[in-house]
This record gives sequence, structure tokens and C-alpha cells, in this order.
Amino acid sequence: MSKIKVAVLGATGMIGQRFVQMLEGHPWFEIEGLYASEKSEGKRLREVLKVRDFEFSDGTLDAQVRAMDVKHISDSARIAFSGLPSDLAGPTETSLAGGGVAVFTNAGSHRMDPCVPIVIPEVNPSQMEAARDQPTYGDGGYIVTNANCSSTGIAVPLHALHKSYGLEQVFVSTYQALSGAGYPGVPSLDAVGNVIPFIDHEEEKMEVELAKILGSYSKAGFEYADFKVMANCARVPVVDGHLESLTIEMRDSPSLDELAKTLSGFRGEAHSLSLPSAPAQPVIVRTEDNRPQPAFDVMAGSPARARGMASTVGRLREGNGYYKMFVLSHNTLRGGAGGSVLNAELAKAKGML
Ligand code: NAP
Repeated sequence: MSKIKVAVLGATGMIGQRFVQMLEGHPWFEIEGLYASEKSEGKRLREVLKVRDFEFSDGTLDAQVRAMDVKHISDSARIAFSGLPSDLAGPTETSLAGGGVAVFTNAGSHRMDPCVPIVIPEVNPSQMEAARDQPTYGDGGYIVTNANCSSTGIAVPLHALHKSYGLEQVFVSTYQALSGAGYPGVPSLDAVGNVIPFIDHEEEKMEVELAKILGSYSKAGFEYADFKVMANCARVPVVDGHLESLTIEMRDSPSLDELAKTLSGFRGEAHSLSLPSAPAQPVIVRTEDNRPQPAFDVMAGSPARARGMASTVGRLREGNGYYKMFVLSHNTLRGGAGGSVLNAELAKAKGML
């Protein structure tokens, strides 16, 4: 079976290079072209390498970056994986979908569009149906987004809890890695030895995106989940991995043992469909007092293709009617490129490619 041709947009950036990583040796997809701005045209990937913890093949490192060309991509690729900055992503992704390309994007520009879903295959695979209702679907073009990096990692455990016990309120504080700000991101003199208690629009995004993701979709539109989310977001001097503390009020009152079993036993449709990049266990529960930590747990997930795709939960506690825990996830893999690749795998399994 021939593989599906995919374009990587923003291939010189943090997310773009994680796309290239996720696509190395992929059983269903192969890279048609790497695209970035004109200033990167003609450079080989090895000259603009940002990802330091993955060994790319020589063939991939020698691939040349091209300047973005929507017409060429529409003619040559069935899928575009987008790691473009939001302002550019909005119009570019609309044009690509209009040209019959299935767009799987990390950018925020289309997340709140009426027929554009924010898909996490373990959580809301049925929301992929929204893409079929987009005006460009008939020609094969559509846009599917993934959530911002701080929402994705907690959406999976929150979904498991919502299904079993009913969420009422979620208070979340984030400790977000520097790679979440792209490359070169936060100036080093601001980042080193410091914590910055502000990330532009992050809290607002989390508060609305989680309700959309855990809600439902019908021809009438998206119905948002009705629990409240209150977020405080901070940038910390960690390279990869967003750690988040959660305080949760739920309708039911499970014991901590039940809660841990519900989280670690959770499996979604990504698992039953055996999607290649789906982690065998989407939520890993640690029992040590000092876990999860980015240094130990950021690459959690198996098999090898799903490394960095699991959420790790730890320090489960309860008191005063609330449950407390920490969650860690990889922001540029689970919360970025890996999430989009998993969405494309779901689309293929649903006959949308
Ligand atoms: P980044 O490191 O700054 O990379 C941006 C990419 O866009 C680069 O490849 C850049 O190419 C390209 N680009 C910029 N202007 C362009 C133009 N005019 N034409 C074509 N390409 C252009 O950003 P990032 O962190 O990868 O983020 C990419 C997107 O994903 C953003 O929308 C971000 O909000 C979202 N996101 C990021 C994360 C994360 O954890 N980092 C997680 C989820 C979502 P040049 O090098 O040639 O300029």
C-alpha cells in the first residue's frame, strides 16, 4: 500500500521538527515536503535543527526546506501538518482546505470556528464528524485542530474523571516549559533562574477549549461541557514538559484507590483502533511522593512511536470536598505535533483520507 503524502508547514520551528520526528518511519504517512519562510528556503534540516533528543535519519537531515507555496502543496500533498504562527496559519490553512488538503494544525486560529473540531482521539473522536460538515469537505479539504499544549495533557485524565464521576469545577495552575513559546522563544535573561506568571491568552484558551473538547458535536453545532475551569499559567525554566496542578470538585466521591484505577485503566478509541501513535496507556499514575517530574517523566508512553504521548498523573490527594493532583505532559509531542499526527491517523481510520 502506498503511503499518504504529507507536507510539514513550519518545518524549521519547534512543532514542525516534532512533526518530522513523528513522521520518521511512519507506517501510513510519508513527507512530501518541508516548508517554512523564504529566509529558510534551500537550507537542509541539519542546518536548522532544533530538536536535540531524537536521532533523525541522514536522509531526513539532508532534506531541503522550501518556501511555503500553497498551490504546490495543494497539488502534491493529501495532508498538511501545520506548525505555523497563528496569524499566518489562519488564511493559509483556509486556502489549503479550499485546495482539497486535509489540514491538521497546532495553531489556534481555527479552534473556535463553527465546524472546526478540537480533536483528541482518546477523548472526543466523534467530534471528527464536524470536519465532514465543513464546506470544503466534498473536495477532500478540511481543518482539524488540536488543543493548545496546556489543555491537551490534562484533557485526557479530566475526560476519564468526567465520564466516571462528573466534573463540577477545575482549578488549574501551570508550570509551562520554554519550548511552548516556540524558537527562540523567551529571551534567556528573562527565563534563566526565573518564573514568569503570565502567558499571553493562555488562561482564556484553557478555560474555553477544555469545555469544547469535553463537550459534544451534532449538526446543530458544538455543545460545551458545563463544568467550570479556572486557570493560572506560568512559564518556568524547563525545556520540555508542562507540569500542571489540578484541584477538582466532582459530583461523586470516589476513594483515591478508585480514582487511581479509573485513571490508569482508561482507554479510548485511539486504543481500540490501534492507531500507530496512540500510547498503550494514555494516563500513567505514579505513586511516588515526588513524581511526575519533567526530568523523569516527559517521555512517558509506549510503544516507541508513542514516546512522549502519555499524560503522567501523581500526588493524588483529597480533602475539603476536593481532589488534588499533578499532571505532566510533553507540550511539543502530546500537546503539539504528536497530537496532530494522532488526529490524522484517526481521520484515516474513519475513511476521511
Ligand atoms: P516556532 O518555533 O516559532 O516556528 C514557527 C515556524 O513557522 C517556523 O518554521 C517558521 O519558519 C515558520 N514561519 C514563520 N513565518 C513564516 C512565513 N511567512 N511563511 C512560512 N513559514 C513561516 O513556533 P512553534 O512553537 O513551532 O509553534 C507553531 C505553532 O504551533 C504556533 O501556532 C503555536 O501557537 C502552536 N503550538 C505550539 C506549541 C508548543 O509547545 N511550542 C504547542 C501547541 C501549539 P522560519 O524559520 O523560516 O521563520
